[in-house]
Amino acid sequence: MTTVSSETNVQALEAANLLQIYRRPNVVFERGDGVYLFDTAGRRYLDFVSGVGVAALGHAHPSLAQALAGQAATLAHTSNLYFHPLQGELAARLAAHSTLPRAFFCNSGTEAVEACLKFARKASGKTKFVALKHSFHGRTMGSLSVTWEPHYREPFAPLIEDVVFADPHDAASIADAITDDVAAVIVEPIQGEGGVRPLSPEAVAAIAAGCARTGALLIADEVQSGMGRTGRMFHSTTLGLQPDLMALGKALGGGMPIGAALMSERVASAVAPGDHGSTYGGNLLACRAALTVLDELEGGLLDHARAMGEYLGDALEGLRARHTRVTAVRGVGLMRGIDVEGDAAAVLQAALERGLLINRTANTVLRVLPPYIVTAAQIDEAVSILGDVL
Ligand code: PLP
Repeated sequence: MTTVSSETNVQALEAANLLQIYRRPNVVFERGDGVYLFDTAGRRYLDFVSGVGVAALGHAHPSLAQALAGQAATLAHTSNLYFHPLQGELAARLAAHSTLPRAFFCNSGTEAVEACLKFARKASGKTKFVALKHSFHGRTMGSLSVTWEPHYREPFAPLIEDVVFADPHDAASIADAITDDVAAVIVEPIQGEGGVRPLSPEAVAAIAAGCARTGALLIADEVQSGMGRTGRMFHSTTLGLQPDLMALGKALGGGMPIGAALMSERVASAVAPGDHGSTYGGNLLACRAALTVLDELEGGLLDHARAMGEYLGDALEGLRARHTRVTAVRGVGLMRGIDVEGDAAAVLQAALERGLLINRTANTVLRVLPPYIVTAAQIDEAVSILGDVL
């Protein structure tokens, strides 16, 4: 295996050859262990980003590494032309948690959303979608159409035209938007990119009532909030919503690219062979990863994530009480946002220099998404670094 070890080489090679679409800090990671990442100089970082909510088991988790090595040495991919033993098992185990009995597997969050939108149109016979202001559902054309921020959408217009954005803070705006011609309402139970904003009880009630009144399908985008991130398997069901479709990604594969659209029997019965598909979707390697993540969650990790989520919430409340620059703390479980006054980007950089990785969203919101294996001591360390930086 060739390794390009120095930071300068890596960055020069990227600058010369990669589409310049990401702004990355001046660090190159080459190894991970649990909640830690290590850069090319061997320096250790506490990872409270976990690859944007993906590495639920942390890095180089022994069970995942062993399961993937075993699967790769047995059979990695056959395409969806043939049966293999893992898709049915994974679908059944996800159904047991979600009560949505049918699954379609794909490779990413945006593909899961895309599939939900297509299946909702087919099942309803209608075309219009209601989404929420400040939503983020992905970068492909369908997902982008239901994503709020104009700077994501406008350069790529025209997108799907039949989309109405309702205000999540105004129940009347939600009720007005859900009319008889709506195919589906799509919501993130906790808006992630939009600033880590959980749906309010009023919004939940207005969405549920609107769907019941008009027959509009409900799509829960649990790509970021699902698979245990909040300490429960899915946040939509914790809120009391009963989605007809659910989009999953990120933590589902613990680092292997896999997404899923889960759906009710009613939706599934409207989709026929050939209507949709994927070459890679749900291959053996990806399914093995997801099954291993489920083994860990069911084997105690979900309870640990819930306990650590509460601990993190308390610790961040303490931070807010001590630091005037922190104006609000939001979120659930291990998905938290911290509103800061002043330059949030500078906070990120200063935290990085002190060995802590955090993320920023909606410009002024620091976002923390630690791996579920995080310990109380590691949360204390991260919050202490954040305190110093602030
Ligand atoms: N939906 C939500 C709620 C997300 O947070 C994201 C990614 O951040 C996506 C969809 C898109 O997922 P992906 O980047 O895997 O396509």
